[in-house]
Amino acid sequence: MTDQPLYLNPRTIPISLLKEDNLVPTCYIIHVHEQVCTNCGMIEHYSRPYAKNDLRSRATNQPIEHLVAITYFRYNLPIYSMALPPSFVHCCVNCAGKISLSHMPPAPKKETPEWNQTLARKYAETPESDKPKSPPKRPMSNVKTLDDLFNKFDF
Ligand SMILES: [Zn+2]
Repeated sequence: MTDQPLYLNPRTIPISLLKEDNLVPTCYIIHVHEQVCTNCGMIEHYSRPYAKNDLRSRATNQPIEHLVAITYFRYNLPIYSMALPPSFVHCCVNCAGKISLSHMPPAPKKETPEWNQTLARKYAETPESDKPKSPPKRPMSNVKTLDDLFNKFDF
């Protein structure tokens, strides 16, 4: 595939949503994705670069690793590539215009009995009691400094 060294840590490192400009990474890891079309067999590859960061947990003081998606390289650090397990799609860009769905039934029109049955099934799948509840709102009126803000939350 490439001459880049492979990242040999078999563990999956969690991906965080932190911003790339606010961290000092220890290395870069390129995730190499392979996507296989089950219709035509075409295999596509794409890459996603991450910066690997090592931090300490505030709660346990244990080292934790995480990846942050990056748009550019900022430091002179090693770059590793890591092949991920393939994913599968039913249709790809190669066969999208060539597939005929003429043997499939038409989609139900709005406000027909079929449409209403589909909606009823959708709402039956997620009863109100199973929906995630948001935590109670905390008043933010007495937040004046960053320390006040951190003290509002349990880390
Ligand atoms: Zn295809």
